[in-house]
Amino acid sequence: RFITFEGTEGVGKSTQIANAAETLKELGIDCVVTREPGGTPMAESIRELLLAPRDESVNELTELLLMFAARAQHLHTLILPALERGQWVLCDRFTDATFAYQGGGRGVPSERIALLENLVQGDVRPDQVVLLDAPVETGMTRARKRGQLDRFEQEAVAFFQRIRDTYLARAKAAPSRYSVVNAADSLEQVSAHIRELMCKFQSD
Ligand code: C5P
Repeated sequence: RFITFEGTEGVGKSTQIANAAETLKELGIDCVVTREPGGTPMAESIRELLLAPRDESVNELTELLLMFAARAQHLHTLILPALERGQWVLCDRFTDATFAYQGGGRGVPSERIALLENLVQGDVRPDQVVLLDAPVETGMTRARKRGQLDRFEQEAVAFFQRIRDTYLARAKAAPSRYSVVNAADSLEQVSAHIRELMCKFQSD
């Protein structure tokens, strides 16, 4: 099974992926935890390239192609082989993040993203997408406290609002594949919700 975790900055993805992996371990399920952009040495190099601060502003198509270059490497050398071995894959962000950030956020038409999605992934899609959702201000305040608002710090709240809206619209369009978790709840509540979801996915 291929499960991805999505959300805007500061919604607690890393904590909840660790919690999900721990839950699966308790259930006796062998899982691999990975992330995007990244997940393999080459894809991690592309991540560094994408996130490095620079004077030159990045063209949105360059960013999009680098995201999918990293994804092609990650999918074909790590994710698919793990799934073929029967392992579950928990991935911190995947193509939904591209539709949300490069699409909703930066304005790349979703048809272009879908074109690359089909080219790189064929018909591979996550079995389940866990969307950690919180008001943009909540997540930004948390991320800022941890000093984690890198190159997007200066960008307006409106940018993150468009990202959140895109995620929510995608979840609404395919409710059987998306689980929206209220990330503004307490850590205990969110953790309990994630544990319940993992148990549910196991018995599906
Ligand atoms: O998930 P994580 O917070 O590690 O992502 C690192 C950075 O990459 C974040 O600032 C996120 O906004 C950005 N990102 C992006 N487009 C994606 C995935 C991540 O701009 N498709």
